[in-house]
Amino acid sequence: MQKDELITLVNQMHKQLLKNIAIEKNATKEQVANFLVESATIFKELDTAETTNIKAFAESVFHDAYQEIAHQSLQSYATTSNNIEKLVSMHEETFIECQNEQIDLPLIAEKFNKIQEHMTEEVNKANSIISQLMNQIKTLEEKSSLDPLTKILNRGALTSYLEDICARPDIPYSLHLLMLDIDDFKKINDTYGHIAGDKVLIFLANILRKTLRDGDKVFRYGGEEFVIILNRIDDEQCKKITKRLIELIRNNNLIYKGDKIDVTMSVGSTKYKKLDTPETLLARADKALYKAKSNGKNQMVSEV
Ligand code: GH3
Ligand code: MG
Ligand code: MG
Repeated sequence: MQKDELITLVNQMHKQLLKNIAIEKNATKEQVANFLVESATIFKELDTAETTNIKAFAESVFHDAYQEIAHQSLQSYATTSNNIEKLVSMHEETFIECQNEQIDLPLIAEKFNKIQEHMTEEVNKANSIISQLMNQIKTLEEKSSLDPLTKILNRGALTSYLEDICARPDIPYSLHLLMLDIDDFKKINDTYGHIAGDKVLIFLANILRKTLRDGDKVFRYGGEEFVIILNRIDDEQCKKITKRLIELIRNNNLIYKGDKIDVTMSVGSTKYKKLDTPETLLARADKALYKAKSNGKNQMVSEV
């Protein structure tokens, strides 16, 4: 990585850290330490070859753009709601005037027309702001290759990685793809709440990231699904690593607000073969995962 790129990353990280401290009422030393540890992981794992625009990357990772969008949308909601309130009271006043014995029909009709006009204007304004904010979110998502919750690579990054691999006529080493899915995650959310569910996702992403070797990659594929790419290992080693992961997750003590949350995962594994496309590779892993689920979960199945 070049020096100016490093400076961009560090500057953005520093700005975000200061901002986090400023907005947090009771910022603690531990929160700062956590932020730094997370940042260190991002720095270490950042693959510059896959990140073409460092500035955009730094902004998307060390900048809570989502928070800003949420803030903007709340503000716009407050304005709309204020204006609607005014319209409602205009409506009420006009309605009361209608009950007057000397009704001035043309005037009342004019007033109702005005209300109607304002209403249409408000709805159009709100719709335009909504579509503006949606576009901002879309751009952010496209720019970023990291999942905002778990800080691991996202599905977009997986797609480009697999497209690169599959564009080659063949690869001179074996590549295994594992698709992992948390068992009964809906029940975890229902029992302990959505925030606990989010913590489980972060916890698992960290376990996967820490357990794998440098050349391996872990992606968040979807809600509670992850994909791991293991390079340069044979089938036996792949089985061993996967079994170790499943066991590690099963035996981990995850305590949330005093409750012990038991988590297990099912894994479908497959191996790259000549002429594979991202779709065929993922479809085989998905099929294997489906079998692991039907066989009773908390296990791996491979489909080669
Ligand atoms: P199975 O063992 O068959 O995989 O069952 P499951 O309950 O894990 O699977 P299901 O597809 O029925 O439910 C997945 C749940 O994952 C539903 C959804 O609310 C939850 N989920 C998806 N993304 C997130 C997220 O980002 N955070 C939280 N807390 N929950 C999520
Ligand atoms: Mg699932
Ligand atoms: Mg699941």
